[in-house]
Amino acid sequence: MTLMRFASSLVFVTLAWPWNTTKSRLQADLMLVAMLLVPPVFYLISIRIISGLQLDPFAMLATKLYALMPNIVLAGLAIFPLTALEVLLFAIPAFAFAIVGYGMNGETLSLVQHGPELWLMVLVMGVAMFSGMSQLHYMAALVNRAMIDPLTGAYTRRSGGETLDLLFRLAALQNAPMAVAFFDLDKFKSINDTYGHDEGDRALKGLAERLKSGLRKGDVLVRWGGEEFVAILNNTDAEGARIVVQRLRDAGFGLRPDGSPLTASIGVAERTADNAKDWPELVEAADQRMYQAKRGGRDRAILPGDVTLVFGPPIG
Ligand code: GH3
Ligand code: MG
Ligand code: MG
Repeated sequence: MTLMRFASSLVFVTLAWPWNTTKSRLQADLMLVAMLLVPPVFYLISIRIISGLQLDPFAMLATKLYALMPNIVLAGLAIFPLTALEVLLFAIPAFAFAIVGYGMNGETLSLVQHGPELWLMVLVMGVAMFSGMSQLHYMAALVNRAMIDPLTGAYTRRSGGETLDLLFRLAALQNAPMAVAFFDLDKFKSINDTYGHDEGDRALKGLAERLKSGLRKGDVLVRWGGEEFVAILNNTDAEGARIVVQRLRDAGFGLRPDGSPLTASIGVAERTADNAKDWPELVEAADQRMYQAKRGGRDRAILPGDVTLVFGPPIG
């Protein structure tokens, strides 16, 4: 059994060794199977050796405890974030080698003798499943929280930056147009100051819903800052962006608590028209135009080539 311990350690070391070769998917799967096979094979061989021995009570106790090995393997599943199906799939071999182990130990399967052990395995599997799934949900919630802004459901600035990076590279590679529209709500602070933060939040939520439903499926809405949003308009040139912005404004950005329309100052930049070399430059150009729209009297959009869309009378 000592030799077998060394043999199984050797298998683990060989599998973990930083060999300087890249593995194919098949090789990786085979390595995983080999790793998972070590405990059951070791268990089944040991149980056979032990069954042939005359044991004193202490050694007999050790042997009985050893028979709980499949439980330990199952319990080990609880440290991984797994789905219910994965735990079930991993549990089947553990059950199987426990039952085969009884047979190899020269025992016939008896409900009274083996029932409690198998029942313990079911309990362990339940705990493993619950623990694995809780971890999975927790991880999913963390990823979701980092990606999606909880108030508006828009992408966060961080995930929006990653999306911009990817889409910009693709657009540059294909020499395709790509526009961004930078929205900053007009006189938003006065909603908070007059009606409270909750009313402000409600207005932000309503705006994000309207923007999302007005954009195409492939477009991405990012909450860039407090009351600033960036719409990524994939495969859209400056003229296409003008049509989108006009359509969004026509649909409206929602109402202020006093019933007057919520307005925004909008800056648009486009990869080819602005000759942007990377996405931060593109967003910076849109941001600058948004400020230009503010200075020009708000409730308007400035596009590449100084194209200006004035929606309503100037807001001071
Ligand atoms: P301007 O037309 O010049 O853009 O005026 P403004 O009041 O919109 O501009 P300013 O940048 O001064 O104010 C933005 C305000 O947005 C400040 C802050 O109180 C508010 N704000 C930022 N994030 C949130 C949020 O999550 N909820 C609420 N209710 N308000 C927010
Ligand atoms: Mg602002
Ligand atoms: Mg503002």
